Amino acid sequence: MGISFSDEINEEITTAVSLPEDSSEGSLRPRTIAEYIGQEKAKENLRIFIHAAKIRNEPLDHVLLHGPPGLGKTTLAAVIANEMGVNMRITSGPAIEKPGDLVAMLTNLNEGDILFVDEIHRLNRAYEEILYPAMEDYAIDIILGKGPSANSIHLDLPHFTLIGATTRSGQLTAPLRDRFGVTLRLELYSPEELKRIVKRSAGILGVEIEEAGALEIASRSRGTPRIANRLLRRVRDYAQVCADGVITSAVADKALSSLEVDKLGLDALDRRMLRSIIDYYGGGPVGLDTLAATINEEAVTIEDVYEPYLLQCGFLTRTPRGRCVTRRAYEHLGIEYLGQQQIEMP
Ligand code: ADP
Repeated sequence: MGISFSDEINEEITTAVSLPEDSSEGSLRPRTIAEYIGQEKAKENLRIFIHAAKIRNEPLDHVLLHGPPGLGKTTLAAVIANEMGVNMRITSGPAIEKPGDLVAMLTNLNEGDILFVDEIHRLNRAYEEILYPAMEDYAIDIILGKGPSANSIHLDLPHFTLIGATTRSGQLTAPLRDRFGVTLRLELYSPEELKRIVKRSAGILGVEIEEAGALEIASRSRGTPRIANRLLRRVRDYAQVCADGVITSAVADKALSSLEVDKLGLDALDRRMLRSIIDYYGGGPVGLDTLAATINEEAVTIEDVYEPYLLQCGFLTRTPRGRCVTRRAYEHLGIEYLGQQQIEMP
């Protein structure tokens, strides 16, 4: 079965992964802790750590941020840099292709700077060892040459703060994880928090939005600010072309329904995944890899991008034997629930 145009749009519109169209995200990024909405627990801890570091006139301890994509890890790192009054250099695990790349980044830092490494779980394990002494002693040892004539040079580094971001902290090696003094877990946002984010973004974009319109977009954004901002832009287009430019709850509902984003923010792929478990595996349990092959998606994408929200909605459960669809999901999809079915083994 070929994929229709509308499927293609919708599988992308609610993905938490950054798309090229999000390139203008920067303008919507909050700059201070006060502007950063939600994540109260993480913010409360950070306020104390930042304050203490400032009193001691020391750089902040290394910070590990983890949580699904689009929840504001990069934004929070930039907020920390801003609050500390230091510069931030940005790189990512897969972008560091050789040890020299990492050494160059480290030696180019200034005193107090922040080095932000996105997707740090994808950093080559062999290069991690450069980070250990850098994080612990602010120094690196570089080996020059090979064999008996090899020389080791000891380089002192400025006191810096490493902020690592990851969608899967479980994949970090224990020695690397242990070297972060602060670990903060970002949670999916509540509709109320997302509503505040939508209203703030609408203000920056100069779009008129009603309270109920903001809540409608917020409730369909899968707990993720990146999706909320993206849906806001799409609804704004609709409001300008098909209505009088004001985002009311009716306008938001019409725009999002025409994009096949349902009342809870599920898109075509979520529905296809839940339906596959129901149609082919009697509602589950089904192993992650089998499910990935059935719907032709990568297992990591299912785990990182789709599952967190479906788990939070209570539509999916993870059991030792695999994923199961819940009664609630059947009801949401309008399918009669006949209890968990046993699949006959041939
Ligand atoms: P991540 O690094 O976790 O993938 P980002 O930091 O790139 O996510 O955030 C994605 C977008 O969501 C940014 O454009 C930012 O404007 C918005 N955003 C994230 N967190 C917040 C927040 N707490 N308050 C307001 N906007 C936010």
